[in-house]
Amino acid sequence: MKLSKLFTKTSKNISSQIESVNAQLLTRAGYIYQEMAGVYAFLPLGMKVIKNIEQIVRDEMDKIGEELLMPALSGRERWHATKRHDAIDILMSTRAANEKALEKSTAEYILNPTHEEIITPIAKHFRTSYKDFPFAVYQIQTKFRNEARAKSGLLRGREFIMKDLYSFHTSEDDLNKFYELAKERYDAIFDRLGIGQDTYITFASGGDFTDDYSHEYQTVLESGEDVIYLDRKNKVAYNKEVATPEDAKKLGVNFDELEQVMASEVGNIFPLSTKFSEHLDYKYSDEDNIQKNVWMGSYGIGISRLMGVITEKFADDKGLVWPESIAPYMYHIVALPDEENIKVANKVYETLGEDKCLYDDRDSASTGERFADADLIGCPVQIVVSKKTLENNCVEVISRSDKFESFMHPIDEIESLETKLA
Ligand code: ATP
Ligand code: MG
Repeated sequence: MKLSKLFTKTSKNISSQIESVNAQLLTRAGYIYQEMAGVYAFLPLGMKVIKNIEQIVRDEMDKIGEELLMPALSGRERWHATKRHDAIDILMSTRAANEKALEKSTAEYILNPTHEEIITPIAKHFRTSYKDFPFAVYQIQTKFRNEARAKSGLLRGREFIMKDLYSFHTSEDDLNKFYELAKERYDAIFDRLGIGQDTYITFASGGDFTDDYSHEYQTVLESGEDVIYLDRKNKVAYNKEVATPEDAKKLGVNFDELEQVMASEVGNIFPLSTKFSEHLDYKYSDEDNIQKNVWMGSYGIGISRLMGVITEKFADDKGLVWPESIAPYMYHIVALPDEENIKVANKVYETLGEDKCLYDDRDSASTGERFADADLIGCPVQIVVSKKTLENNCVEVISRSDKFESFMHPIDEIESLETKLA
C-alpha cells in the first residue's frame, strides 16, 4: 500500500474528548475514528489489525468448534425466560417499528450483549440425541452493551467485537474435559498475539452466568480496569472481586504473598452447568430414551479490546509498536527524496509485495514527517533508502519493535530479507 493512496492520514492533534492512551494513539495514527465514547470505526489500518487478531482466534477455535454467525438483534422472550432481561444492567434494546408489534411480546428488540439466549434454541433445533454430543460452535461478532463509563477507548466499547464460543455436553465430566481443551487454545491464542507472558488465567466470579467461579484471562496493564492478585510462579491470579482472604484460602493460596497489579480482562470462560438448558428447556434423550438437561460452557474473547490492550502494552513515546503477528503491514519503506532513492524503493516495494509493505511515496512530506509517521504507525520493520545507504549498495533495516536496532542489507538480496528477519 502506498501512503499517498491510503484512505487515512496521521494527525498531530486530536479531540480532547478522546481520553485513553489506546484511543489517542490509534486515532492519531489513523487506525480508528471515534463516533462517540465507546463507539469506533475501524479504518483500513485498524481493520487489518482486527482481521489479523480474528484470524489467530479463528485458527485456534476451528480446532475445537465450527464457526457460524448469529444475529445482533433478538426478541425479548428468551431474555425473560432466563431472567436476564432485568438482571443485566447493560442490556440495550430498541422499540419495534410497527404499531401492531408494539402490543406483542416482540415489541422490543434486544441488541445482543452475548448469545447464550440465541444459540441454545438453535442447538436444540439440530441436536437432541445423546449421539449428537458433544459439539461446539463459535462466532466473531459485534456486541452491544450500555456501559456506564466508556472512557477507556477500545478497552470498553458500547459496541465492540467479541469471539464467543458455546459448548454442549451430556455430562459435567464431558464439559470439564472440553473446558481444559479450551484453556489450551486460549493459551495458544495469547501466545501468538505476543501477550502470553503477561496474560494470567484468573479465578473470578461467575457474573450473570453462574454462582460458581469462572476463569478470566487477565493481561497485566497499568490502565486495566481490574485489580488482580498475581502468583507469578504458578502463573495464576485471582480477581480482587472474589479474592477475599477466605476465598483465596479455599483455593489453596496464601493471600498475603500475592502481588497486586492492574490488568485488563481479555477473555472469560464459564462452565454454565445446566442453567441455560433448564431455563430454555433444552434436553437430550439418553441411551434409555430418558430426557436430561444439556450441560453448557461459554467462552469469550474481546477482539477489539485486545487491539486496545496490545496497543497500550507495546506503544512507546514515539507511537505504536505492533507484534508481527497482527501488524497491518510488516514493512514501512521510507525513501529520502531523490530520484535514485525512489527507484530503489520502488524495487524494494515490488519485491517484498504491496500487501506486506506500507510505502511512503508522498511528495509533500518532509524527511522528519516520514520518520515520525513510520514510528507512529508502528509497522515492525522500517526500511530506509538514502544516499548514504546506496553508497554501500544497501538499504537500512530498522526494527521498530526492538529499540530501533538496525543493520545494512544489500539491495540485490532484498528477496532474502524475510528469511533473515525470521
Ligand atoms: P468487564 O468485566 O470488563 O465488563 P465482562 O466480564 O462483562 O467484562 P464478558 O461477558 O466476560 O465481559 O465478555 C467476554 C469478553 O468480552 C471479556 O472478557 C472482554 O474481553 C470483552 N468485553 C466485555 N465487555 C467489553 C466492552 N464493553 N468493550 C470491549 N470488550 C469487552
Ligand atoms: Mg467477564
